[in-house]
Amino acid sequence: MTASDAQPPEINAPKPATAPYWVIVPAAGAGKRMGTAQPKQYLPLADKPLIAHTLQNILGWPNVAGIIVAIAADDRQFQSLAEAADPRVHTVTGGSERADSVLAALDFLSAQQPPETTVLVHDAARPLVEHGDIVRLLEAAPMALLAQPASDTVKQAEPVAGGQSLVRQTLPRSEIWLAQTPQKAPLGRLRDCLARGLKENPAAITDEASALELAGHHPQLVPACRSNFKVTHPADLILAEALLRHRNSPAQQGPSQSQPGTDE
Ligand code: C5P
Repeated sequence: MTASDAQPPEINAPKPATAPYWVIVPAAGAGKRMGTAQPKQYLPLADKPLIAHTLQNILGWPNVAGIIVAIAADDRQFQSLAEAADPRVHTVTGGSERADSVLAALDFLSAQQPPETTVLVHDAARPLVEHGDIVRLLEAAPMALLAQPASDTVKQAEPVAGGQSLVRQTLPRSEIWLAQTPQKAPLGRLRDCLARGLKENPAAITDEASALELAGHHPQLVPACRSNFKVTHPADLILAEALLRHRNSPAQQGPSQSQPGTDE
């Protein structure tokens, strides 16, 4: 091969292999907004419970070292899932709020892994995250999260009598992102920030990034594909099922055609 045959280094250079990382899946919630007796992670989606799709998806991410699922103390269903038998899947008992469930999993992991271990926290209720998004999240800054740039005009509301709301102001849409999961951070840093945040200002801790922000960090926002929505209301299940059917159809096998931050 002559020098002129060689590829430019930026094309030719092998991609760095993804270092192993752990995934925490908070799945101890009751899913009250879904309005069903069954916790939403166990609602049927196509052929199996919602959480089984999420775990099957995660088990296919590159180089996952292990998964810790936080389940409710009275959970009697998890161990019957086929995915629970995978040797990489472990469980801990969750807490009363999502952040308590995540902290229980971080405590468990800290007893066996060093503080610099990379951790991704991913909601059980997001079964459809694209693998391309996971790769871009893994390649992003050490503290980063998938998120969706706002596509609608965003209004800040002012509550008034009778449970009604008036517009207080319109927020600059170009600066608004909706936080999703996975959210990535080093194990020790995330555990410290979450534990401190829950002690000092629990109402402000609505995701992992908010705990990091309280400690002065600025996690990177990584745009995600539209399929990474959280199954929250009954209509979301219908949408998730349609997307799963579309994704599994013969014409769609192979790499995803969807773009981050755009419609499927
Ligand atoms: O209720 P929400 O949709 O915000 O819950 C997000 C995720 O957090 C779900 O996967 C849910 O099961 C989990 N969760 C938890 N422990 C709680 C509450 C919620 O693991 N106490």
